[in-house]
Amino acid sequence: MDVFLTSPWIPAEWIRAHGLIPRGIWASESFHSGGSPLSAGVCAFAEAAVRFAETATDSVVIFSTACDQMRRGFDTAQLHGLERDFLFNLPATETLAAKQIYRAELERLGRFLLAIGGHAPAAATLRQELMQSNATRQRLLESATTTSPRGFAEAVSRFHWDGEYSPPPPDAQGNPVALALVGGPFLPPHWKLLDEIEAAGGRVVFNATKTGERSLSPSFDWAAGTNPFDALVRGYHDHMVDVFQRPNTRLYSWLKPRLAAREVRGIVLWLFTGCDLWRAEAHTLRKTFGLPVLQLEADEATGFSARDLTRIQAFVETLQ
Ligand code: SF4
Repeated sequence: MDVFLTSPWIPAEWIRAHGLIPRGIWASESFHSGGSPLSAGVCAFAEAAVRFAETATDSVVIFSTACDQMRRGFDTAQLHGLERDFLFNLPATETLAAKQIYRAELERLGRFLLAIGGHAPAAATLRQELMQSNATRQRLLESATTTSPRGFAEAVSRFHWDGEYSPPPPDAQGNPVALALVGGPFLPPHWKLLDEIEAAGGRVVFNATKTGERSLSPSFDWAAGTNPFDALVRGYHDHMVDVFQRPNTRLYSWLKPRLAAREVRGIVLWLFTGCDLWRAEAHTLRKTFGLPVLQLEADEATGFSARDLTRIQAFVETLQ
């Protein structure tokens, strides 16, 4: 059975070790198919997750508590009778208690997976899953600076879809204006934005969106004999990099060396309309890194506007 994850911080390796198939919901072709008009103020990503859960009746969707919108999305799905779905409590702090909550949530998720037809995970299977995932994440991260922005986005998406590594083709870089793309989910219909940025003379050298390089942060290391479940808990909890964490200093500590190493000259802040978490970061990003920030809002999960293109062109032009 397919188990669709709404966050990269819900371990796909744990699902796979239970004999089920984890899928990043954002990588599904039917996730962003548009459809009903948006309710005012509702983030299109959260709304698309609810719509998806309503139609994918032969699979389950794991929502997360990363934000109020997603929580409400889960409540809505439950009201519509989708009781097979699951709400994963993602702790917002980095304390020891938070790690224990994360561990307990993984155990609770494990019981849910058993109830929907999964099998108890063998330690050797989980260890194998972690090792394979580690290797693939590493290869993807190494390719981030040598491949086209679009090729990289596609390769990361493929990884979240089936766990596979499809090497993105190497790409000549020239001397464009180096930009970082920072923010929430950046879905396949949005990838053409990367081409538009290149056409304008820029290049996204650092894709720090929720579905880009940031989603590859989990990392598993263990001394010989370490329980793989402990490695899983540590590998995710200690490497989660997201805007909902309080304080979200880990996000800024993670961004800082990468922005410097790639000589980024401007930040494109990518967010969904209704996402207060990312909108609130615009000022702090500017202040912390001393870089110009262009805020782009996706008001639906299916694309971006012509007006955004003009703003991108103007932004790149001012940095040239
Ligand atoms: S984009 Fe923002 S509002 Fe939407 S689900 Fe993600 S964190 Fe929540």
